[in-house]
Amino acid sequence: MVFLKQIDVENFKSWRGKQTIGPFLRFSCIIGTNGSGKSNVMDAICFATGERSSTLRVKHLRDLIHGAHTGQPVSRSATVCLRYCNKEEEEEEEASFSRTITGDSSEYRINGAQVTLVQYLKQLEEIGIITKAQNCLVFQGAVESIALKDPKERTKMFESISQSRELASQYEQKKTA
Ligand code: ATP
Ligand code: MG
Repeated sequence: MVFLKQIDVENFKSWRGKQTIGPFLRFSCIIGTNGSGKSNVMDAICFATGERSSTLRVKHLRDLIHGAHTGQPVSRSATVCLRYCNKEEEEEEEASFSRTITGDSSEYRINGAQVTLVQYLKQLEEIGIITKAQNCLVFQGAVESIALKDPKERTKMFESISQSRELASQYEQKKTA
């Protein structure tokens, strides 16, 4: 099973220079006072999985560079690298997915090699990180709206996250056969 082991950041939002977030376990909890950067961790994950600026709480990608929020960016670029661990019994494999912005343009790398966004998202999907499934990341303020969904809607949401919706017609066919 694949899980996120570590995030390496460089000049991204509240992190100045190169810093490491983690290591994470299969279940990890991040705690901190208001404004300490908890949501920035979610933003880092979204950024490195190819999200656009509008969903990253900024107007332009360049606003994500450390210091840009006060008009004093410390660099022209920022990077987030997600280090995934795939552990099957005794074997452990690592895969790194990184995105760098220089100004407003993005560059994507898998294990250090530059790739297109399409290749990047495809490879993420291959290791089980489904970026097109909405609600995989539940943001601040969204917990209540998910809890208040009616059961059918909530079931649809979990079916979409687990991708079992795509198998629903096959399942129905087999059930009636
Ligand atoms: P809360 O508990 O209130 O939700 P939080 O821990 O989720 O807080 P975040 O929203 O992750 O906090 O972080 C906010 C902090 O990030 C602020 O202190 C802000 O100054 C800092 N920040 C945001 N953008 C940048 C940036 N481009 N450069 C430096 N710091 C930034
Ligand atoms: Mg927050």
